Amino acid sequence: MNENYQIVTDRNKLSQACKKVTVPEGIEIGKILLKELKKERTGVGLAANQIGIDAAVCVVKVGQPVVLVNPVIKNSFKKIFPLEACLSFPGEQVTTQRWANIAVKADNHKDLLYFGEDNLLECICTQHEIDHLNGITMFDRQNELDKAPNIEYIKNIK
Ligand SMILES: [Zn+2]
Repeated sequence: MNENYQIVTDRNKLSQACKKVTVPEGIEIGKILLKELKKERTGVGLAANQIGIDAAVCVVKVGQPVVLVNPVIKNSFKKIFPLEACLSFPGEQVTTQRWANIAVKADNHKDLLYFGEDNLLECICTQHEIDHLNGITMFDRQNELDKAPNIEYIKNIK
């Protein structure tokens, strides 16, 4: 594959779940994603559908590059509320609700992968990218947060 990939910025297109792929296919797509991610100055992760490839593959590169083929979050612990950005929505930032610790099963890794509080950026990015593969953008994660502080606020003013 030697295409010129463009970052998809259409939220409707990004709202569709990606199809599962085989591990060899996923590894090849992972290589393309890491190459494309390198071109972006600010990005720490990229999902296949963000460059128009319908495949459940994403990469995260905070420290070591991580390729995830058909990833699923199996376990999660401790809510956090980070401020996030996305290569598909330049200039936008939202406060989301995420987990500080997750265990991920991906078909190209034998064991569960742990991402946690010792590297929060990597942990948050992994959740953000896996969301992309399920057709979920950071804006979809904003809503739950908006509800919770209001309840707290009403209690506090009594
Ligand atoms: Zn994104």
